[in-house]
Amino acid sequence: MFERIKGKTIFITGASSGIGKSIAIVFAEYGANVVISARRMAKLTEVEAQIKQTSPSIKVHKVAMDVSCEESVKSGFESLPSWAEDIDILVNNAGVSPGVELIKDLSSENMDTMLNTNIKSVIFVTQQVLPRMLERDTGMIINIGSIVSTTPRPTAGMYSATKFALSAITQTLRMETNDTNISVVEIKPGIIETEFNIVRNFGNRAASKKFYDAAPSIPPSDVAEAVLFAASRDPRCIVSEITVVPRGQA
Ligand code: NDP
Repeated sequence: MFERIKGKTIFITGASSGIGKSIAIVFAEYGANVVISARRMAKLTEVEAQIKQTSPSIKVHKVAMDVSCEESVKSGFESLPSWAEDIDILVNNAGVSPGVELIKDLSSENMDTMLNTNIKSVIFVTQQVLPRMLERDTGMIINIGSIVSTTPRPTAGMYSATKFALSAITQTLRMETNDTNISVVEIKPGIIETEFNIVRNFGNRAASKKFYDAAPSIPPSDVAEAVLFAASRDPRCIVSEITVVPRGQA
């Protein structure tokens, strides 16, 4: 079912932990060569080691990149080895929600972090990949959104707004590439067990654990498998959107 993935090159942002790491591992298992990017090189090295252990024949390349900074993104792409220059699947996954904040308390710094990391980053990275996809008239761009893009929630107002914006960008890009063989997909997870809620709780692991203990949640591999499903369809068929939530989450 997933044989179309074999030999493809996938580029994943935010691959040092959580959903991005899980996507890298799952795609490598099905024979894709992977480019993993994030800011924390030590974490990427751990992901690389895990892939090499389970999928020794797979090519892996690590890119230290801050997706919120256009210059960092440009230099990350300049460092790609030749085998990774033609990217078949781009996964714009990096994203943050730094803080449990009511709108009345939102700091300007956190707003900028979310705008830059969750929205502008997707454009910076896509601009590096899309021209070559258009030249080759093939490829897939998968953006990791969130169910908060349709159901915002208190204390995550700005984060929800960035995911609304990401939905708009995804839909626009799909329309702008409609006369090509490029597919544009949005994956909308619900509550997933990752470092995301540790970041959201200002690094407080106990608060994050309390959140996960109180709410239904599922592992990042469930999201990775949804990405795998979308990416392995016949090119004539676009799976434009998948929502993945734990049972019990409205
Ligand atoms: P994690 O915190 O586990 O992973 C986030 C990843 O993004 C890390 O690899 C981190 O790497 C990377 N990242 C953050 N900021 C930057 C940056 N400026 N430049 C480059 N990389 C960056 O969280 P998840 O895996 O849960 O999150 C992945 C995506 O899923 C996000 O877009 C998030 O919004 C979305 N999502 C998550 C949900 C959840 O409940 N967990 C629910 C719905 C959507 P590093 O720090 O090394 O740079």
